[in-house]
Parts: sequence; structure tokens; C-alpha cells
Amino acid sequence: MMPAEPIAFPPEDHDHRRCMEAMMVRVDRLCTELRLRLTAQRRRVLEIVAESHTAIGAYEILARLGGTTRVPAPISVYRALDFLMQHGLVHRVESLNAYVACAHVGGRHPAQFLICSACRRVAELESSSIEDAIAAGAEAASFAVTRPIVEIGGLCRACRPVHA
Ligand SMILES: [Zn+2]
Ligand SMILES: [Zn+2]
Ligand SMILES: [Zn+2]
Repeated sequence: MMPAEPIAFPPEDHDHRRCMEAMMVRVDRLCTELRLRLTAQRRRVLEIVAESHTAIGAYEILARLGGTTRVPAPISVYRALDFLMQHGLVHRVESLNAYVACAHVGGRHPAQFLICSACRRVAELESSSIEDAIAAGAEAASFAVTRPIVEIGGLCRACRPVHA
């Protein structure tokens, strides 16, 4: 029997529309709960980022936003991304200089990312033991953590040779 595909990296052929729909339901719930104003522009940017599990760069977002109408100013994309990141709907992946939609939509939270260097897909871990270790190490160093994000590079199952 094949082991169950870990949720973190869904198979490439999974029904991503359902994935996205479920995410948007959680997003709408969170926005109502926190009284966030998800403007049409912010929603569109979030949808573009969430279109795949692959990290997407700001200029690609901009290009897709343009689509049929005129291309919006980059600053408006960055503003929308700032809003989405501030509320934990989108994460910035520094090592790729790109963005991914939050897999959990639970508001702002510390995260560890597994980043596939071949396909740029990104999965989120939410390990409280890693968080605790960072907190303890930082405290011992009298260090005030402002960005508790861990980025881990590697290869996802789909990008690994079969017997590796
Ligand atoms: Zn999906
Ligand atoms: Zn997240
Ligand atoms: Zn991969």
C-alpha cells in the first residue's frame, strides 16, 4: 500500500480548485471575525498567490493582475501584500523573494517553511517544539525575536529521484 501523501505537499494532480475554495471560505470567516476589509484588489492578489502551492514573485503577481485591464502600479500590489501578510493570509518566502498563501488561515503565526528548490512549492510546518526551541534560545541570548520564520530548503517528493 502506498503511504498517504502528506498534506503538506499535495500531489501535483490534486483538485486545487477545491483546495482554493476551502481556503477562501476560511479567509472570509477570518475576515468577518477580525473585521478585516478584504477589498476587491486584496482579494484578487490573494487569489493569484493562492493559485498554486508554488511561491510567486511580486512582478508575476503584477503581470497577472494586469490581465485584461491596465497594469496596476507596483506599489498597490505591495500594499495589498503587506495587508495580507500582516494578517497571516500570505507569507513572504525570503529565500525565494516570493509569496505563498498561508495553508492554515489562522491569523498571524510563526511558521517553518519547507521549500522545494526544484519546483518552488512551499509547505508550512507549524511545529510548536521548534517554536519553543527558538523562544528558549532567544531568551537565553537576551534576543528579542521579531521574525520567527524558519526556511528549510530541499526537494519535495515529486522532485526527488524515485530511490533517493
Ligand atoms: Zn491545492
Ligand atoms: Zn501560515
Ligand atoms: Zn518539488
